[in-house]
Amino acid sequence: MTDPRPVALVTGGSRGIGAAIVLRLAEDGHDVAFCYRGDDTAAKATAVAAEAYGARVLAQRADVADAAAVREFVRAAETGLGPLDAVVTAAGVLRDRPLGLMAQDDWDTVLRTNLDGTYHVCRAAVRGLMRRRRGAIVAVSSVAGIAGTPMQANYCASKAGIIGLARSMAKELGGHQVRVNVVAPGYVDTDMLAGLTEEFTTAAAGRTALGRLGRPEEVADAVAFLLSPRARYITGQVLTVDGGLSL
Ligand code: NAP
Repeated sequence: MTDPRPVALVTGGSRGIGAAIVLRLAEDGHDVAFCYRGDDTAAKATAVAAEAYGARVLAQRADVADAAAVREFVRAAETGLGPLDAVVTAAGVLRDRPLGLMAQDDWDTVLRTNLDGTYHVCRAAVRGLMRRRRGAIVAVSSVAGIAGTPMQANYCASKAGIIGLARSMAKELGGHQVRVNVVAPGYVDTDMLAGLTEEFTTAAAGRTALGRLGRPEEVADAVAFLLSPRARYITGQVLTVDGGLSL
């Protein structure tokens, strides 16, 4: 009998970095469950592309800010595909404003999605991982959560919070053979940058050592590495994937 394919769960897997992670893990031999908030067309396209690698795929609408919806998504993933081996929290949003003009809703939406969402997913998945004494979690943060960026107090706070959450989990779960790491991308060419002017993105690319924006697949490669047995002695780390932006 052949071993079953490992099972990965990815949030925000329909578009951008999350979709690249879904495809990378499918190509690497995982079955993949992913959630998204509302774009069924993008989710369908990603699911079909992942299935082309021979993966079983479960794509489900679930707002990560909603703890009950996340619990239901995790349950559906485990029922449909089997016990989880890998968890990736990639769902995230921006609501950029100067702090003096930041509405309570701008703050709440970003914190609830990015930070509470990461907590909800880890909370729902962690006991199974601990019980089975195997598994790896990768949370997607941002260089903005390390350095801080103007107009993004909400986003930076959420992404810094993710790093604290992940490091705490790494210490708490290490004894159960569960690893937890973070990737911190710089500017990556996805819909998330769509609101920025071309002038801004050209200048941002110019501030990197490599002279260009990142591609979603380049973040996915780092995530796949951290989930893989090649990273079996790495936990509690933040891997910056920014083309040298933060040097
Ligand atoms: P994106 O292209 O805007 O895609 C966001 C994904 O998250 C979509 O699949 C979206 O689903 C999903 N999503 C958003 N809110 C959600 C919610 N409440 N519940 C469930 N799913 C939700 O973003 P991206 O650029 O790929 O970013 C992915 C992650 O990388 C985010 O955490 C982001 O903060 C981080 N990051 C991005 C960059 C960058 O330059 N792009 C840099 C650093 C860090 P729907 O389409 O259905 O809404």
